[in-house]
Formats: sequence, C-alpha cells, structure tokens
Amino acid sequence: DATVAQIAAGEVVERPASVVKELVENSLDAGAASIDVTVESGGRDRIVVADDGHGMTGEDLQAAVRQHTTSKLSDASELDAVATLGFRGEALYTIGSVSRMTVTTRARDAGDSGATLTVEHGDVGDVRPAGRPAGTTVEVADLFAETPARRKYLKRPATEFAHVNRAVTRYALANPEVAVSLTHDGREVFATTGTGDVRDAALSVYGREVAQSLVPVDATPDGPVERVHGYVSEPETTRSTREYLATYVNGRSVRDSVLREAVLDAYGGQLASDRYPFTVLFVETEGVDANVHPRKMEVRFEQEDRVQAAVEDAVRDALLDAGI
Ligand code: ADP
Ligand code: MG
Repeated sequence: DATVAQIAAGEVVERPASVVKELVENSLDAGAASIDVTVESGGRDRIVVADDGHGMTGEDLQAAVRQHTTSKLSDASELDAVATLGFRGEALYTIGSVSRMTVTTRARDAGDSGATLTVEHGDVGDVRPAGRPAGTTVEVADLFAETPARRKYLKRPATEFAHVNRAVTRYALANPEVAVSLTHDGREVFATTGTGDVRDAALSVYGREVAQSLVPVDATPDGPVERVHGYVSEPETTRSTREYLATYVNGRSVRDSVLREAVLDAYGGQLASDRYPFTVLFVETEGVDANVHPRKMEVRFEQEDRVQAAVEDAVRDALLDAGI
C-alpha cells in the first residue's frame, strides 16, 4: 500500500539528486542521444528529465509505474535475485509514491501518438493520449509533500542543487556521446554536445582551462584490473573539492578512497596540499564485491592493493608520457 511504499522509498529516493539519478539512468538505458535535466529550487519544487530515447507505448507506461516492473531483465533467476534485494523496476513506482509524477512518452516505432500518466503520491491515474516526439519526459513535483518527516531532511535549494549538479556532471562526463544539459531555475548550467569525446564534455562542463589541461590515460595492467582509461588534469589544474576527481568502476560512478589515493600518489607530490586534480577515470576490473548496495556510490575490491597499484601506475605513466 501507499504507506509501505512511502517508507520503502527511503531506499531509492533520499533527495532530489536521487530522483535525478534514477531518471537519467532510465534515459541512458532507453538509448537517448540527448537528455535535458531541468530543476527548480534545487529540485525541491520540480524536476524534469526529458529524453529522445526509445520511449514507451501506453501499455508499457501503465506497467512502468507499478512495483517490480522492469523491461530490463529476461532471466527468471536474475529476477529472483533482484526482487529480494528490491532495486529493479522500483524507481518510477517509488518516485510516484512520494511526489506528483507525470510521465509523458511516445514509443519510437509506434504509429499512434504519445501517452501521459500522472501518479499523485501513490494514486495512479489513467493513461491519456498526448502528443510528443519519440522519447520520454518525466516531471516530478512536490517531492515528499505528503511525508513531512522526509521533507524536513531536505537541505536548502543551493545544497540540493549541488548534489544534482554533481550527479548530472558525472553522467555527462561518463557518457560523452549523449548531449546532456542541466538547467536550474531557468539558467542553463551546462550543455554537452554529445560528440563522444570526453574532452568536449569537460569543456562544456568545466570550461577551457580544464579541457586544455587533460592528459589521456590508457593502460591494460596485469591482474584483476583489465583497463584503466580516461583523462587526468595537469597538476596545476586542481580544485579543493574531491568531487573534481571522478572515478568509475565498471561503468558506475563511485567515490572510493583507494582510487583517490592511487590518483593523488601518482602525482608524486606535485599537487598542492588539499587540492584535487580533475579526473574522469574509468577502471575496468574483476573482483568487485557485489554485495555493496548498487544505489550507493561505494565499491569494495577483493584485491585492493593490486587495484591501487594498477591505477597509480596507469596515471603516473600517463603524466610521464605528457612530460609531467
Ligand atoms: P528499471 O529501470 O529498474 O527497469 P524503473 O522503475 O526505473 O525500473 O523503470 C521501469 C520501466 O519503465 C523500465 O524498465 C523501462 O521499461 C520503463 N522506462 C522508464 N523510464 C524510461 C525512459 N526514460 N524511456 C523508456 N522507458 C522507460
Ligand atoms: Mg530505472
């Protein structure tokens, strides 16, 4: 029922940035070439994610907002595993239980027009026809309006926006082939162009100084780590926030001290203290502990020391190659 759903929502939806993450991931899964994220008051008032992905039929739409509905699993054992853990096919359902959510969509190959559906704090409305080009727009308003205890934990708009910005930035950098834009209170914060080049995405998000300072990394070490690739900045291009140092493990954005230390050590004392270089670094590796909650940005390596050494070596070699 709605109350249980609202309590369970804490697993999926903590704050506006968690809504944004789920919606952007759905857009990426739908093969979008462009994703536009618009938020008001840091997402406390309104969140809109619009994509040009494969969209849904009216029937798909009706199913998509229900619990444990996913189009992304085929195998029954896989389905069992995730149903227990409860994190597949939950996002739209959960978001709809704690907000006023309107999904408007049109399937890419459907001859008919599009469809729209509103869920108001768990009450699912009827599917109605609605015109729109192929793709999906999800609008989320009044987040936690009916769960005051949760609403109270939201921070001021600037803080919530900082979380949203960080999340969208990471998706934009990790998916340079997708044109990602972010607009806050009517102001465009950034818009990447979808060229497929991380440097172009970095230029759009962080500006010319960062883009020009990027050094390519690409190593295929032995052992559990199969590949380390991406970009790191020259040691002069730093910020005082760790968020500048973006790392991804097997495609997923993670915050991890092993990787962070590996990168910092690779600079061999060339960084000013408490400064972090800009990085977009992808680590492809075996031996990642699967028991860490997939919604968290945490990761645990079975062979931590080897991962750390592989990443440090990869970054150091890249800096040396660049004459640094
Ligand atoms: P999951 O992503 O784990 O499948 P969600 O609740 O996030 O669960 O989404 C439920 C289903 O709704 C998806 O499996 C997908 O079929 C459909 N869906 C959600 N968002 C989109 C989108 N932006 N474009 C196309 N289909 C979508
Ligand atoms: Mg999803």
